[in-house]
Amino acid sequence: MPVITLAKRLRRQALPILYRGERYECPACGSALRSFMAGGAKLPLFKEKKIIGAGYRQNNLCPSCWTTDRERLILAFMLARSVHVPAAGIILNIAPEPSLCRYFADQADVFHLRADLMRGNMSVIFDLQRMPLPDQSIDMVICNHVLEHVEDDRIAMAEILRVLKPGAAALLQAPIAAHEAETIEDPSVSDPAEREQRFGQDDHVRLYGQDYASRLRNAGFDLDCVKWTEQPELFGGAPERYGLNPEEILFLGKKPREAV
Ligand SMILES: [Zn+2]
Repeated sequence: MPVITLAKRLRRQALPILYRGERYECPACGSALRSFMAGGAKLPLFKEKKIIGAGYRQNNLCPSCWTTDRERLILAFMLARSVHVPAAGIILNIAPEPSLCRYFADQADVFHLRADLMRGNMSVIFDLQRMPLPDQSIDMVICNHVLEHVEDDRIAMAEILRVLKPGAAALLQAPIAAHEAETIEDPSVSDPAEREQRFGQDDHVRLYGQDYASRLRNAGFDLDCVKWTEQPELFGGAPERYGLNPEEILFLGKKPREAV
């Protein structure tokens, strides 16, 4: 075995021991931790625009299962099983993270419909702008940091709304530039280096600003902007144990019961 691989393996085995403690708990793997690990990209843009939900964060990664804070936010919401979380039915998860796939594998009454544009091991491969799914066929959508990659996000939002059953919810997370009133986008930018410089990642096509919520409302969602610090009951009652980002808002979009 090459030395570098062995060193990496030993580090991975040692990390859960080094971070062991009582203050935090990973909702993905159950590890009891003194803290999560810092991690994330350190581009100047993240500080300059105060981008929430991306970039370097102190309490980002679980040292045991490598789940990020933004995955843990979704998991905490699912585990709390509020009225927005269906006990049975189809949950469409766009570009699902491994932690969510593991969680849903144990949910016998839920069909976890894993979708992506190109990755393997999915239930279905499709473009979010043209979903080959019937109208009103889905009980919940999880779209965690995907819309910033999609060429026409308004079409994608309309598609999500179309496939949801009336009254069903979608978790619609994206990185948000808190210091920008309006979304920065320029479809003419295709160079990966320029995208990284302007939008924060080489495959992002925009950087959402404070107008993200109004974009979702304009698409037809009945939107709640939920802070786990203000509504901890929606995240299991004591979500501070999960090492979540106190600035990250959960964008909870519901399909109105009346047709839109
Ligand atoms: Zn973990």
